[in-house]
Amino acid sequence: MPEPKGWKELPIGGIIDSPGSARDLETGAWRARRPIVDKDKCTSCLQCWMFCPDMAVVVQADKMRGFDLYHCKGCGICAKICPADAIAMVAEAEAGTEGEGG
Ligand code: SF4
Ligand code: SF4
Repeated sequence: MPEPKGWKELPIGGIIDSPGSARDLETGAWRARRPIVDKDKCTSCLQCWMFCPDMAVVVQADKMRGFDLYHCKGCGICAKICPADAIAMVAEAEAGTEGEGG
């Protein structure tokens, strides 16, 4: 195959064969940093839930309960958006079992 000369010649990528399949992929395996919520600071405003691109914030009975670590890829958007500064991004190597189980 000849070298493409520009981006318009690159083959089309992305999820095009099976849209809606993201929940079947364990994107948590990509994560280098893990969000850890300080439940004393969290007000359950749910902004993290609204902004998470992976629907990885767990909400039950209108309360923020933690993170779905099978799908959280550690982008840090939730920590940036949190108005209560209740989410810390911790290196996976240092996180241990913290935050597991939601
Ligand atoms: S954005 Fe912050 S305060 Fe709001 S629910 Fe999420 S962790 Fe809690
Ligand atoms: S780090 Fe990113 S993927 Fe993980 S819960 Fe926060 S916003 Fe969602």
